[in-house]
Amino acid sequence: MDLEKYIAIVEDWPSKGISFKDITPLMADGAAFKYATDQIVEYAKEKQIDIVVGPEARGFIIGCPVAYALGVGFAPVRKEGKLPRETIKVEYGLEYGKDVLTIHKDAVKPGQRVLIIDDLLATGGTIEATKKLVEQLGGIVVGAAFLIELTYLNGREKLSGIDLKTLIQY
Ligand code: 5GP
Repeated sequence: MDLEKYIAIVEDWPSKGISFKDITPLMADGAAFKYATDQIVEYAKEKQIDIVVGPEARGFIIGCPVAYALGVGFAPVRKEGKLPRETIKVEYGLEYGKDVLTIHKDAVKPGQRVLIIDDLLATGGTIEATKKLVEQLGGIVVGAAFLIELTYLNGREKLSGIDLKTLIQY
């Protein structure tokens, strides 16, 4: 299936010079959403994943159906102040801006094999920060999967230690 035709490109959003890749048409199409999810599940099957970890908010959208299909749990990574119990945090740089990401202290157990999932890999800052959170909790990042990779932002280089799967490349 050609997934690229389900991605809407919005120029100069959320700010001038950004060519935003909108995944909502893909999410809205049952067959395309299922196909994309199944592709990531196939990638993850051999990796003996214990838990999927995904950053807000679009990492939840892709990460949860993958976790469900694998029969494993899902742990959310969120902006500061959003998770209700004790968290650890890390600062990171984004394609546009700077922020803090947090995870519940008990979200990942030491030695657990973790698959990180997000909608899109740009500079890799979000996933680098997510990996740091997982590793601070003693988890092992065994892979990271995305619907989209913006290859011109070289996120792959920043994440050179992680096995990556991306379904659409720009
Ligand atoms: P990075 O940290 O790799 O630079 O940026 C990736 C993060 O920013 C992801 O969490 C992703 O949701 C968001 N993001 C950045 N650019 C886009 C875009 O063009 N489309 C979508 N859907 N998300 C984006």
